[in-house]
Amino acid sequence: MSFLKPLTRTNRSRWGTTLRTLATEASSPHPIRDCTRITPPYAKLVSNLEKVKRVLDHRPLTLSEKILYSHLTNPEDVKPVRGQTYLKLSPDRVAMQDASAQMAILQFMLAGMPTTAVPSSIHCDHLIVGHKGADQDLVNSIENNKEIFNFLQSAAEKYGMSFWKPGSGIIHQIVLENYAAPGLLMLGTDSHTPNAGGLGAIAIGVGGADAVDAMANIPWELKAPEVIGIKLTGKLNGWTSPKDVILHLAGKLTVRGGTGHIIEYFGPGIETLSCTGMGTICNMGAEVGATTSLFPFVNSMSSYLHATGRGPVAEAARQHAHFLRADEGAHYDKVIEVNLSDLEPHINGPFTPDLATPLSKFAEVVKKNGWKDEVKVGLIGSCTNSSYEDMDRVTSLAKQAVEKGIKSKAGFFITPGSEQIRATIERDGQTGVLEQVGGVVLANACGPCIGQWTRDDLDDKEENAILTSFNRNFKNRNDGNATTMNFLTSPELVTAMSLSGKLTFNPLTDPLVDASGQEFMLQPPYGDNLPQNGFIPGNLSYTPPDISHPNAAIQINVDPKSTRLQLLDPFGPGPQGEFEDLQVMLKVKGKCTTDHISAAGPWLKYKGHLENIAHNTLNGALNADNEKVNVVKNVFSGKDGAIHEVGREYQALGKPWIVVTDHNYGEGSAREHAALQMRYLGCPLILARSFARIHQTNLKKQGVLPLTFADPADWERMHGGDVIESTEGVADLVAGRPGKNDTPEGGEILLNVRRPDGERYVIKALHTMSKDQVDWFKKGSALNAARG
Ligand code: SF4
Repeated sequence: MSFLKPLTRTNRSRWGTTLRTLATEASSPHPIRDCTRITPPYAKLVSNLEKVKRVLDHRPLTLSEKILYSHLTNPEDVKPVRGQTYLKLSPDRVAMQDASAQMAILQFMLAGMPTTAVPSSIHCDHLIVGHKGADQDLVNSIENNKEIFNFLQSAAEKYGMSFWKPGSGIIHQIVLENYAAPGLLMLGTDSHTPNAGGLGAIAIGVGGADAVDAMANIPWELKAPEVIGIKLTGKLNGWTSPKDVILHLAGKLTVRGGTGHIIEYFGPGIETLSCTGMGTICNMGAEVGATTSLFPFVNSMSSYLHATGRGPVAEAARQHAHFLRADEGAHYDKVIEVNLSDLEPHINGPFTPDLATPLSKFAEVVKKNGWKDEVKVGLIGSCTNSSYEDMDRVTSLAKQAVEKGIKSKAGFFITPGSEQIRATIERDGQTGVLEQVGGVVLANACGPCIGQWTRDDLDDKEENAILTSFNRNFKNRNDGNATTMNFLTSPELVTAMSLSGKLTFNPLTDPLVDASGQEFMLQPPYGDNLPQNGFIPGNLSYTPPDISHPNAAIQINVDPKSTRLQLLDPFGPGPQGEFEDLQVMLKVKGKCTTDHISAAGPWLKYKGHLENIAHNTLNGALNADNEKVNVVKNVFSGKDGAIHEVGREYQALGKPWIVVTDHNYGEGSAREHAALQMRYLGCPLILARSFARIHQTNLKKQGVLPLTFADPADWERMHGGDVIESTEGVADLVAGRPGKNDTPEGGEILLNVRRPDGERYVIKALHTMSKDQVDWFKKGSALNAARG
């Protein structure tokens, strides 16, 4: 299999530079595509919504509610209350990036289905390292990850998923160009999936287990979010760009302000924004913790759909325009107003996306903090800011520099978001101009945005500043160097400040110096929203067909000796009666997030290999009995070991084991590995003071019974080394019989416990298992249940 592209060069562009095209490249704009699988089922959605509206007494709804409630699996049986009701939803589509797709697909394979229940796509973008430039970097990254890419491609072919191979582009840009649509509900296994809200979709970043739900036709659960309304008035002007809307809001809302909320934009200002500009705003909404962000259907969405070959989707949306905007009088839980005319350019950071500084104050902040007045590297592009509009506007700045005979003083890298963007900006000459000022074009992939950046311009860990048009700037994120101060801003400001090389540079007030020593002012950026001559798809070998068909004959080969991939075996069935002799291996004290249960960082390379990644199980957990992290006694051997080691030792002895945990067990990102690994190592039950809801559901999906203490003070009574001799209530649960003290939310399970000294005591615990979830538990996992 070849993932690479041949190169040839010809012609001149509208920016006056040499035009490059590829031998396999299409040079004419998109034909109209087959849109049958990418047009949301509007008639059905509107009809579903009518049912919910009847239940809700026809109160006016926000757009977020209209889209979510129209995707309910049971629209007549539920009266949704924002912030309270758990919704059971049927998403329309799934997108997965190469790192998170591995375990999602390995799990989906267990469902035994010939194809996915909804259209799904795989995007090879995160595993590609940026270093010297696109061509060389792509060759190296493909070589280093070919096992993973081959696995993903064969799975895509077998199950009829669309496979976007390495070099084709970044997941969210590809989704915007090909799959997003107004009113769509989609899940993506990446936190910046909300990018598709720029095209009016509700697109939510989730863990692989949630994606598997949608692909295996298991209802997907979401607590009905509250809705923050952002009213936009006025019009952007001068140096201000769409990125400044979200940089400003991040400062106001902080990194937690959107948690449990959808951010919904409305007001006359939205009519002035481009579709891709709205995508940028929604993309970075992930940084304030929002479930997602979205805009109502407006003309610029229609233009973008037509420009990307999806006119039929635009026309269908236009016919349902009433469905695709908030009802008159809809109530928002909170409203923030932003006048675009007054908005200033912003620079956010370092180290957190909510540290927002207006450009006019930034030089002062630099001086006050004593930061070196130097921009070491500027990076533009990524999934956040690599639209045609972004590239055209930065080119208008670079062109001024070229005409004055100067180059970027800082290192300058460009990451096109997709092959379509790369090819179109090469044809139209933006690339040539950016290269003339010293820019290096990296592969159409995540690269430096996710730390896949081989940086060789730094002397050993020196403090330095980089400016990016990306969306996230936690410490170490881009180059693994904790002393790199990473600032987020618009691509226009990244470019202007890179040209000057100074961190205090303000292009509105400060001049640059040309090749002859004369000062000149950069004129504000300008550019087209969409290419005047249409988009070209570029290397056609990157574009999968509009409709991918499954092929049952494809074998998915995984080398049994691989350290990165391992096929999964279905878990065995759960207990058919009461539990007996469950060994309490460990009592965890304090915070235990999904990071404590299944750490990321160097473990990411084992995401597709359950046995190997299970070596990190609970390696951040504090043992309440010995006050040590990841140290626990094996009661049979008397020896201390790491938690995963002792778990494996108990498993080898045929001894099921459990952990007792503190409050909010499993908070943090929705990482399915945190649930999978516990089950894999032989833990059928977890007893907590309380659970984070998503992790609790993930445990249930993997056939683990999550119980809480009826009296949280009982956590003090239990210790590692205790044994749950028997349970009372599990047999009723699995038999579907009412328990003694059932409530609408669940029921009671008694645990008869014996201490090592022989003393016995009883713990009253509670479960929250629904009928469906009991079926998962009995059959061993949700996927076993889906398989029947
Ligand atoms: Fe995530 Fe960055 Fe890739 Fe976007 S470009 S998907 S933010 S890693």
